[in-house]
Amino acid sequence: MRLSQMLFVTLREDPAEAEIPSHKLMLRAGYIRRIASGVYAYLPLLLRVLSKVSAIVREEMNATGAQECLLPQLQPADLWQESGRWNTYTKAEGIMFSLVDRRQQEMGLGPTHEEVITAVARDMIRSYRQLPLHLYQIQTKFRDEIRPRFGLMRGREFIMKDGYSFHPDETSLKQTYQEMYTAYSNILRRCGLEFRAVEADSGAIGGSGSHEFMVLAEAGEDEVLFTEDGKYAANVEKAVSLPVDAEPSAFQSYEKLETPNTPTIDSLAKFLKCSPTQIVKNVLYQVTYDTGKMVLVLVSIRGDQDVNEVKLINELTKLAKDYGGSTVIALEVPAAEAQEKWAAKPLPLGYIAPDLADDHIQKGVENLAPKFLRMVDKTAVELKNFVTGSNEAGYHVVGANWGSELTLPRLAVDVRKASAGDRAIHDSAQTLQTARGIEIGHIFQLGTKYSKVLSATFTSEQGEEVPLVMGCYGVGVSRLAQAAVEQSYDKDGIVWPVAIAPYQAIVVIPNIADKDQVAAAEQLYQDLNAAGIETLLDDRDERAGVKFKDADLIGIPFRVVTGRSLKDGKVEVVQRATHSSQELVVSEVVSTLRGWVDDALKG
Ligand code: ATP
Ligand code: MG
Repeated sequence: MRLSQMLFVTLREDPAEAEIPSHKLMLRAGYIRRIASGVYAYLPLLLRVLSKVSAIVREEMNATGAQECLLPQLQPADLWQESGRWNTYTKAEGIMFSLVDRRQQEMGLGPTHEEVITAVARDMIRSYRQLPLHLYQIQTKFRDEIRPRFGLMRGREFIMKDGYSFHPDETSLKQTYQEMYTAYSNILRRCGLEFRAVEADSGAIGGSGSHEFMVLAEAGEDEVLFTEDGKYAANVEKAVSLPVDAEPSAFQSYEKLETPNTPTIDSLAKFLKCSPTQIVKNVLYQVTYDTGKMVLVLVSIRGDQDVNEVKLINELTKLAKDYGGSTVIALEVPAAEAQEKWAAKPLPLGYIAPDLADDHIQKGVENLAPKFLRMVDKTAVELKNFVTGSNEAGYHVVGANWGSELTLPRLAVDVRKASAGDRAIHDSAQTLQTARGIEIGHIFQLGTKYSKVLSATFTSEQGEEVPLVMGCYGVGVSRLAQAAVEQSYDKDGIVWPVAIAPYQAIVVIPNIADKDQVAAAEQLYQDLNAAGIETLLDDRDERAGVKFKDADLIGIPFRVVTGRSLKDGKVEVVQRATHSSQELVVSEVVSTLRGWVDDALKG
């Protein structure tokens, strides 16, 4: 392609709308243009990158025997009502765009395709003889994200490869899951990304496993905890660890003490000259179930620890049926405004005890459980002679014990957040390290969650009608493209991994008034393309400096310049990643670049 004929517009300045480097560079280098919040035009250079990523994804998926298909983006509400997700997705979480057609039928734009694929399977899979089966697609997804940001990283319209597998049993599912783990690792490696596969939360669905593929980068929205020995890595949402031991209590007898201005653990520990590990803190949450029912939750946990809200949601989901629901749709720390709706009297915030009386909740508030749901984290269960609130502002109790001054909540749970510096469970000599990650892929053992509700069954070898066992696997194709930039850029611009660069080489003519330069460049441009090296020709009427800057900015791996050394039959060849430059005899350019490209693609 000739730059003179391309839509080629680069910006010198960082656009105001972008915060992270990859987003700025994608805009500046002319890969994307913003059309609306979280909605982007994918310009020609980006489309080439996306096609390359898609091609790698296809190769790796097809190699496992998965088959490509294309499912509708426009999906009928009935299917989602059948699975029980319509209200949660369109109203509660509101992630799904929905509309009403001319026949007054409700439809949604697919944020994901479990419902559709399960409906296909229910119609077409009859017998164990058809199993296992794995279908995938590469397609645009729509999600009305609360906070679309960072360009392609979190869009409201984005490209995903999603695949769904069907199995006669768990063993077969596990085998495909393992193959997907390998395929996903291959995809990321071949795209030139540094990544880590981490254990992930499989949430309310339960199931026996889920892994996320994280591209490590400062701008990542996820936190990953891992050990140096390489044996453990998990999303912080899922991570487990050994907490530090609690220090023995300094208080031997039960007493209520005046502790003015000590609403935080730090201020209290300082005032009482005790360790935060001797304190039981009580955190108030408000949970909303899919039925609209709200419950106030009081979690008692050791003072130096924090609540992992994902783990707490998982515990609360297990209790959903007690409140007539099946899933949690919101969990929040009730702000002052929310408290006004239900508090019968002021709450002793900062001084709450595990036995905060239920009469703090107004009677008869619609959709609100009249009693606190009390939970205690395992770290707090073991404490003796601890410090905790007194339910009176300005006072705490010390030397308290479960079973004497305070009743131990019936629900003892593990909702503690693991954090960097904790000891690892598999080896207490290892401490957890932290890194930021961008979630690029997620593989998931679904089990029978969807097949059961949608009645997708098959006849087993024993002749019984049983639900299909399912897995699902997603890669964010457009997010991956930008994550590659986030991981690989320098002060001059993007440094594409060769495997997904829009073009592999660019031939630059420093001075288009020089006929020899033009002729040599034209010939090289023809020869490189003929040799299968995807090559651009910068034949614009621009200053040489501008052309070099642009070539660096758009991140083409190899640059060939038909400049001064042409009189000696040579051209300059520059590697984008290292800026290393050398002069090559014109006749050696094609074979040299062919070698470099082939080497890079081997990876
Ligand atoms: P996240 O936690 O980042 O919101 P998710 O867990 O909801 O993602 P999945 O449903 O597992 O995402 O989707 C599979 C993949 O699709 C993700 O791993 C990610 O790469 C990509 N993806 C998800 N949401 C978006 C988005 N809004 N924009 C771009 N890519 C996305
Ligand atoms: Mg995910």
